[in-house]
Amino acid sequence: MNIHEYQGKEVLREFGVSVPAGKVAFSVEEAVEAAESLGTNVCVVKAQIHAGGRGKAGGVKVAKGLDEVRTYAEEILGKTLVTHQTGPEGKEVKRLLIEEGCDIQKEYYIGLVLDRSTSRIVMMASEEGGTEIEEVAAKTPEKIFRETIDPVVGLTGYQARRLAFAINIPPESLNKAVGFMMSLYQAFVEKDCSIAEINPLVTTGDGQVLALDAKLNFDENALYKHKDIAGLRDLDEEDEKEIEASKYDLSYISLDGNIGCMVNGAGLAMATMDIIKHYGGDPANFLDVGGGATTEKVTEAFKIILADQNVKGILVNIFGGIMKCDVIAEGVIGASRQVGLDIPLVVRLEGTNVEQGKQLLEESGLNITSAASMADAAEKIVALVN
Ligand code: ADP
Ligand code: MG
Repeated sequence: MNIHEYQGKEVLREFGVSVPAGKVAFSVEEAVEAAESLGTNVCVVKAQIHAGGRGKAGGVKVAKGLDEVRTYAEEILGKTLVTHQTGPEGKEVKRLLIEEGCDIQKEYYIGLVLDRSTSRIVMMASEEGGTEIEEVAAKTPEKIFRETIDPVVGLTGYQARRLAFAINIPPESLNKAVGFMMSLYQAFVEKDCSIAEINPLVTTGDGQVLALDAKLNFDENALYKHKDIAGLRDLDEEDEKEIEASKYDLSYISLDGNIGCMVNGAGLAMATMDIIKHYGGDPANFLDVGGGATTEKVTEAFKIILADQNVKGILVNIFGGIMKCDVIAEGVIGASRQVGLDIPLVVRLEGTNVEQGKQLLEESGLNITSAASMADAAEKIVALVN
């Protein structure tokens, strides 16, 4: 789960990570009031959306005085910001962060991620802050330094110092930078983050080390432990279909293709997407209806798949283990009737009572193509969609 920059900064503040003073604003008036209460000469008006690259897209503006704060707030609030991370459709700005302006001396990059190959958290640091780290990684990978963290010991002082030296933090700010890294690591672990990215981390004219940007992602499987974090979820920023799916306990991720998939079990869903690709098709989604797929769940799943305008055909690939195939077939038939399905549907069933299931599909009078195997099903849906 992703949160906004201003929320991320509040979380980091709890752990002693230095961030500039700032306030969230939902309207132009609130923005001006926030700037007034900060009492600084220079304020930064920052669009709050769940995407980076705001600066380049005009979503971060430095304002000198309250009049400029008002002008920028009017300009940015309600605007659809298109950044390299939002996709061409962009994201509407509904919140602003009004933040104290900083006298930046130099921008750096600090990131924490879970490295799946070593099963450890890695801290990454670079002197090339403020720019896209992906670009630094592609063009000058030698400018990114890494420390792999032992989960028992945690980030050690010498590791943090090694990173701070490597990225040339000035000597007078070194201890602050080390403290910053230690606190950031603490926040990452205690709040079960999956990503913490500070880009830029800055040193200022008066010797401070501050996080000017903060991107925190959280492991959703650990959210039950962090009610405070779960409460920061902003549904406006999430895919509507994915939110709808989560209400029915369906694991759904929308993708770019045109073949809707309904499958039980995550592994089978992955394999189904692979085989669609293998036969030259493109899956429109990942959808795992789970072990106990009821008619209600199947119906909701159909509705969610069909809400995607790109879907030109559906492939149902279900293994009847706990659920029997005839019950699944009834669910598919009922759901197809209810939603008035008018695009090709290929169903592959396997498992308990498969014969009864197939018979029900055949006798339904609906335009359902039955498939004998996964390969057969994928070939058929790809042909029907093309
Ligand atoms: P994004 O990564 O989405 O572009 P950032 O928060 O990193 O947004 O802001 C972009 C740039 O704006 C930063 O690299 C920094 O140069 C400048 N900036 C952001 N916040 C402040 C601030 N409080 N004071 C001064 N400059 C800032
Ligand atoms: Mg940034």
